[in-house]
Amino acid sequence: MSADQKRVQYYSRKMEEGYRFMQEMMRYPVAECGEPLESLVDAAAGLDVEFSSSQIVTGINRMFLLRRGLIADFLLIAREMNERGWVLKVEDGYRTCQMQKLLSRKPVVFDSILQWTMRELDGKIPDVKLLTRRVASMTASCPKIGTHMSGSAIDISVLHRDDRTELDRGASYLAMCELTPMASPFVTAEAQKNRAEITGLMAKHGFIAYPWEFWHYNKGDAYAEYLLKTGRPGRYGAIDWNVAEGAITPIQNPLTLLNSEAEIQSEIEQALQRLGHQSK
Ligand SMILES: [Zn+2]
Repeated sequence: MSADQKRVQYYSRKMEEGYRFMQEMMRYPVAECGEPLESLVDAAAGLDVEFSSSQIVTGINRMFLLRRGLIADFLLIAREMNERGWVLKVEDGYRTCQMQKLLSRKPVVFDSILQWTMRELDGKIPDVKLLTRRVASMTASCPKIGTHMSGSAIDISVLHRDDRTELDRGASYLAMCELTPMASPFVTAEAQKNRAEITGLMAKHGFIAYPWEFWHYNKGDAYAEYLLKTGRPGRYGAIDWNVAEGAITPIQNPLTLLNSEAEIQSEIEQALQRLGHQSK
């Protein structure tokens, strides 16, 4: 098998593993505790913390919110990183359903998932069922399985405090490829060491690494309880946030797909055009 085939085979295996995890998360119990969301930007005042300046999708700004019960740990993480010469860079936190829906369809994300799926199929265009599976592995397909919509997940990068360059983790935030799984054997030993050190620091404060993306950490929700095998329900479930009132409301039908198969099919066709393929 060629080196390239090995990478594609690894990617396929991890995608299927991630999809099975998502199926478990569909069933995992949640006992919503009702804590409100709070601003990470406000909480981090006085600490050396960076926040992504990019928009989540064109025209929509990131919100940088987590549940109230996670703020103290977030601050401990930021402080400990500063003490060891690092700077926590928050890439993303809470997302509304609309933000999550559009993120799955963001061209840079969608095109990458489509191209990798075509590599799995020796260049053939995947049907909507397979692509829906792949999109579900990489980005949440419904509110129940996407912990950004629970306000309990944080996506991070880490910078060196002296020169503000990024710690080498083998790739940068939102790379969707064979380097994305936390344990990817295709990143250097140095990148693996950095991933492990960041994960160790996050775990000290209860934030658990998500095995399929090297930047994503969770606490107190279904992912974290399942991965820690506690047997406890998640205390943070998917919520809507009323910005004006600052109030949260549990999402009534968290298993409803954010993007229908028809929408995914339409996205496949648009992506093929962007990528210069002839669409049937
Ligand atoms: Zn994430």
